[in-house]
Amino acid sequence: MSAKILDGKKLASEIKEELKIEIAQLKKTGIAPGLVVILVGDDPASKIYVDNKKKACEEMEINSQVFEMPECTTEEELLKLIQKLNADEKTHGILVQLPLPKHIDEGKIIESIDPKKDVDCFHPENVGKLSIGIGKLLPCTPAGIMEILKRNNIEISGRECVVAGKSNIVGKPMAMMFLEENATVIVAHIKTENLGEITKRADILVTAVGKAGLIKKDMIKKGVVVVDVGMNRLSNGKLVGDADFENVKEIASAITPVPGGVGPMTVAMLMKNTVETAKRLYKNNLND
Ligand code: NAP
Repeated sequence: MSAKILDGKKLASEIKEELKIEIAQLKKTGIAPGLVVILVGDDPASKIYVDNKKKACEEMEINSQVFEMPECTTEEELLKLIQKLNADEKTHGILVQLPLPKHIDEGKIIESIDPKKDVDCFHPENVGKLSIGIGKLLPCTPAGIMEILKRNNIEISGRECVVAGKSNIVGKPMAMMFLEENATVIVAHIKTENLGEITKRADILVTAVGKAGLIKKDMIKKGVVVVDVGMNRLSNGKLVGDADFENVKEIASAITPVPGGVGPMTVAMLMKNTVETAKRLYKNNLND
């Protein structure tokens, strides 16, 4: 039997509709959520991601501003802009699109963002809080994956969750969030030997590697739930995930498609975080 397709696009639309109602109510009380996105340089993929975020803000009637800065922007110039936005009452969320040009220290930039406005949840303070289970902001991609699983009534507690990839953006926070839900978690990475033996253990497999066709049908067990974060552009222009979708879906019980799976959920979660930070900044209680 073919796997259930976990439709992230549809779910993201539902979440955005819920948020629209919340935003309309917030506006009545004088809170108009505002997101600022900063893009440095002209990486084409980053431009597409920033455009998607801007479009989502427009759709949600979230105030948004995009700062497009040239590749030659200095670290000091970027820090100065962030300082200004940290102090701006109308800016509730600040997102610096990664990767940054090589001459800019990414860590320093992330740390300069006010943790209360860190809608990506990359600031060490927010990462620390997440790791001890007191995070009020959650990183968008893993948070989107959790929504997909929970809203499809997929049990996490007590199950074996394998995360392929250990990036700070996806793999590591995903593992933390699974632990928080009482899953048994294994994280695989480039040095993992016999990846197939590890992935075969998974009840839930999240693959966030960025290699087309990495996860093949002989690397999974029957009935596994596969969440494919990978976004890989083939030479023919087609966008695919890390899993060999057509074959894997014959064995899995459920699977996210690429496109239309995790991607739209990531954007929806960014909107959710912007609404969250706006509410919390208004009440000034993020650190309560
Ligand atoms: P990344 O920073 O490049 O991390 C990739 C991870 O995969 C690294 O931890 C790496 O291990 C690991 N890895 C590489 N080869 C491997 C292998 N053969 N077996 C097991 N692990 C391996 O990437 P990322 O930012 O996490 O993104 C991963 C993918 O997800 C990309 O395709 C990206 O475009 C996509 N993505 C999608 C969304 C979305 O919203 N849909 C969001 C974020 C990312 P080491 O750490 O040991 O090198």
